[in-house]
Amino acid sequence: MRNIVILGSTGSIGKNALDIVDRNPDKLKVVGLAAGSNHEELARQVEKYRPTHVTLSDKTRLSTLKSTLSGSSVTVLEDTGFSNALEEISALPDTEVVLNAIVGVAGLRATASALVTGKIVALANKESMVAGGPILNALAEEHGGKIIPVDSEHSAIFQCLQAGKHDEIKRLVLTGSGGPFLDRVNLDDVPVSEALKHPNWNMGPKITIDSATMMNKGLEIIEAAYLFDLPAEKISVVIHPQSIVHSMVEFVDGAIIAQLSKPDMRLPIQNALLYPDRMPLDVCNLDLTEAISLEFRPPDMDKYISLKLAYRALNEGGISPTVLNAANEVAVKAFLDGRIKFTQICEIIRRTMDDLETGDIPDLNDVYRANMWAADVAEDFVYSYA
Ligand code: NAD
Ligand code: MG
Repeated sequence: MRNIVILGSTGSIGKNALDIVDRNPDKLKVVGLAAGSNHEELARQVEKYRPTHVTLSDKTRLSTLKSTLSGSSVTVLEDTGFSNALEEISALPDTEVVLNAIVGVAGLRATASALVTGKIVALANKESMVAGGPILNALAEEHGGKIIPVDSEHSAIFQCLQAGKHDEIKRLVLTGSGGPFLDRVNLDDVPVSEALKHPNWNMGPKITIDSATMMNKGLEIIEAAYLFDLPAEKISVVIHPQSIVHSMVEFVDGAIIAQLSKPDMRLPIQNALLYPDRMPLDVCNLDLTEAISLEFRPPDMDKYISLKLAYRALNEGGISPTVLNAANEVAVKAFLDGRIKFTQICEIIRRTMDDLETGDIPDLNDVYRANMWAADVAEDFVYSYA
């Protein structure tokens, strides 16, 4: 039996992860659950999965959760002057895997804490890797932690890499559906409701907007560079509207290895939670005797400024990816709140990157500082547009 902690358990990835737990009751035991604000759903999950520890980031709702759970044996963790509840729950002893499915850079402390305590991090929270990748890699190496990707593209690449050695990789090919606006030319007046309609995946609001701007693919370029220790020029993107091929690795001899399955996040989640084992998962089976067409085309780099910005951040290095991620989080929230236009999201990211000088990030505190700094600058741009 493998003890696991699920962070962001009330979200899209979190609920899919609990479905994987339901399918593997003799292999996975939930010992910790954490969420942002949905105390009712979290209380229901506590009742069903009986973890030993639980926490909620919203302080007011945490009090309600505490009253709901009073009398039960579960320990409700909260932030104090000396401790951070997400860090604590990610460092629980006798826990093998922490699935980080929190949205945004808010998940960074938890990823670091799990790695420092030598755990496997099943990483959906790509913003952790984008904001602090080199430091997280160093922490993993120093303390014996390991990152197993949950993002479907990176899970695919992780699997494809079994086919060759690191110095035999010619390039990674990240696939992207192109989102809801693949064939739309003018994106100026896109309403929030349309940007929230992804053609193939049902996900949380932030990543759905990231998919519409293609910044999701931009973040994934940076995530891949750090996860697989490769330079920007060895990572490419191809548009694949069907979302069947989840990504590919091309080796030096020209062989391209791909991973195919139905678009369902339960496959990469299960692979990470049960790593290195595989278990049957019928919901992802692809029937290749049915007529299926697979299309691939290059992305329009003039339309998707997000991809250019991601390559720029990766090439600049230092705090640039942290700045890009922070500005994106601020801009996406402003768009969802109806404060800026769709096309202003990438404009704000570019202007924030232009404004801040690049600099090194020797440790996590520098990442938090750069993140706050960039978020403030981006917020000023939002005000200037609103
Ligand atoms: P979501 O919005 O559906 O869920 C986010 C979860 O995080 C919720 O449980 C929420 O309560 C929790 N949360 C938010 N802020 C928090 C905080 N400060 N402290 C603790 N918990 C907090 O998002 P999602 O779609 O499940 O995505 C989660 C992460 O996984 C994101 O980083 C996303 O990019 C990544 N991801 C998602 C998918 C997908 O299919 N949904 C695919 C690949 C990667
Ligand atoms: Mg992805």
